[in-house]
Amino acid sequence: MKLGIVGLPNVGKSTLFNAITNAGAESANYPFCTIDPNVGMVAVPDERLDKLAEMYQPDKKTPAVIEFVDIAGLVKGASRGEGLGNKFLANIRETDAIIHVVRCFDDENVIHVEGATDPRRDVDIINMELVMADLEMVQRRVDKAAKAMKGDKKFAHEVELFTALQKHLDGGSLARTFQCGDDDRALLATSDLLTLKPVIYAANTDEEGFTHLEENSYYQQVREIAQAEGAQVLPICAKLEQDIAELEGEEKQLFLEEIGVEESGLDRLIKCSYALLGLISFLTYGKDECRAWTIRKGTKAPQAAGKIHSDIERGFIRAEVIAYTDMLQCGSVNAAKEKGLLRSEGKEYVVQDGDMIYFRFNV
Ligand code: GDP
Repeated sequence: MKLGIVGLPNVGKSTLFNAITNAGAESANYPFCTIDPNVGMVAVPDERLDKLAEMYQPDKKTPAVIEFVDIAGLVKGASRGEGLGNKFLANIRETDAIIHVVRCFDDENVIHVEGATDPRRDVDIINMELVMADLEMVQRRVDKAAKAMKGDKKFAHEVELFTALQKHLDGGSLARTFQCGDDDRALLATSDLLTLKPVIYAANTDEEGFTHLEENSYYQQVREIAQAEGAQVLPICAKLEQDIAELEGEEKQLFLEEIGVEESGLDRLIKCSYALLGLISFLTYGKDECRAWTIRKGTKAPQAAGKIHSDIERGFIRAEVIAYTDMLQCGSVNAAKEKGLLRSEGKEYVVQDGDMIYFRFNV
């Protein structure tokens, strides 16, 4: 899963990104981890995996990870190619979701590219650039479908749908807010539109603003924008996150208590992204490795097995499943087995969040 961090210059993107990379997942565990300075991997916090590792004391504990990409340089005019604009837009296209960082702090030492803090205007600038890029894509799609329609009438609907979307975008609206049925939405999803991607608005406040969110008018603006679009909003203090990311374990816990929050903004951001994308985790366990794996909700057992290795998917016989909560209640895997809570599931089984699975397969 890949999340792109976007926003105007000087809103706190790099500060947030640095916090992410500081807290980063150990890259040695991830052979695909690139050395690209704009890409950071971070472990998905999961207390279930922590508990399993405590019980099994495995050689290796491997959390699920998500990838963040710092997409700097998006400015007014990007869709017209200003400031390397098109390159950045292409980078956004490759992500699964967008974290849109909005400046919600005043600081005369940090120049605001548009003069002063104004979340609504800032969000509009970025969103307009994305809409313009989408308009170009949609125009091309309409042209292509119209050509195809000459040979095959079934493309008529596609022409109609994308023309309606074009009007919607033309009015300055996001593809996300375009009203249509599920089938049409699936068709739109084939077009790789930027404003169709799920978004989390990260309202970057200063420390003072973070502790008094109800009175923070900047944050309230961002919340209203998100609500109107049906998007997520997350208050965060990037500067604080940078400090938190340097701490671990008890030290981190103490610091969080001191500032009066339960979990770090980064952890909230990761969990929020997971939910936004409809992702869940299943777990594998043993003396050699305890590991969390990311899948989409609704994934069946063989395809979940395929995440581990394509051979396991191919030779899938059955999945031996214990729900993590059952295991926890019984105290151990063996106790859960004795109570008959280990289930043998077949090819049609839809894997659930927190399933502890052992796959049986033919080699
Ligand atoms: P980017 O251009 O969006 O990547 O912005 P940066 O992360 O580089 O931040 C620009 C400047 O704003 C830096 O000097 C940061 O230290 C500062 N900054 C980031 N977050 C905050 C904040 O919450 N409060 C204040 N006062 N400054 C911040």
